[in-house]
Amino acid sequence: MAIVKLENVSKHYRLGEQDVKAVSDVSLAIEPGVFLAIAGPSGSGKSTLLNIIGCIDTPSSGKVVVEGKDVSGQTPDQLADLRARTIGFIFQTFNLLPVLSAAENVEYPLLQFPELGQDERNARVARYLKMVGLSKYADHRPNQLSGGQRQRVAIARALATHSRIVLADEPTANLDRKTGEEILRLMKKINRRYHTTFIFSTHDRRVMNMADRLVRIEDGRITQLGVRSEDGWVFVQDQTRGEEAPEV
Ligand code: ADP
Ligand code: MG
Repeated sequence: MAIVKLENVSKHYRLGEQDVKAVSDVSLAIEPGVFLAIAGPSGSGKSTLLNIIGCIDTPSSGKVVVEGKDVSGQTPDQLADLRARTIGFIFQTFNLLPVLSAAENVEYPLLQFPELGQDERNARVARYLKMVGLSKYADHRPNQLSGGQRQRVAIARALATHSRIVLADEPTANLDRKTGEEILRLMKKINRRYHTTFIFSTHDRRVMNMADRLVRIEDGRITQLGVRSEDGWVFVQDQTRGEEAPEV
């Protein structure tokens, strides 16, 4: 069963007299455990789509189903809980809290779960900082860390809540090429080992080519769905109106 399903999802913004269609009639079913890139030029709707999948934005029309739950049927409290327990976010600008250490940044989202005591929180912080190779930097503040290290803290923070889905909006855009590739490789290693579903956006071809599923978007519409084979991308199809959304 798909871990995320979008059915005819659209998002329109009203800008003065203009109606901006950020996402237009997108249907998509995402298999659990994939390493999926949403690729498209700036302004094509990548962030809007990720925010809708992550339930931090709601569509103007259409249906969003996450882990079998129709998101539109949820109360704000249920939605916040679904988000907190199911979905982790990684951002282009890292979005760490500057006054907190690396360890405290990873611990921060755990504080919302009353069932997690201090010992369990400490254990998770240690485990996930180790996973991203930052055990020695636990007490460093973000401004004492490099860009790549900051993004590793953000990855640890996204995983610490035991998210089954990690959404990453252009996670390498503020990193140099080598560091960006290291971050992608780390995400892929975690994806392979723990079967966490990763959905990340990019406008960079090299980053796109590290994915095993590809959703290409232009002007808010899916133009291609690709599945990685040994010989490169196999394009499942271009989206055709009215057809059942293929699973990628
Ligand atoms: P991307 O992440 O691919 O660069 P976005 O999802 O940020 O694209 O934006 C898609 C389109 O929607 C763009 O034309 C953008 O200007 C527009 N848009 C995004 N957010 C808003 C908003 N809050 N109000 C008005 N227009 C918006
Ligand atoms: Mg964006």
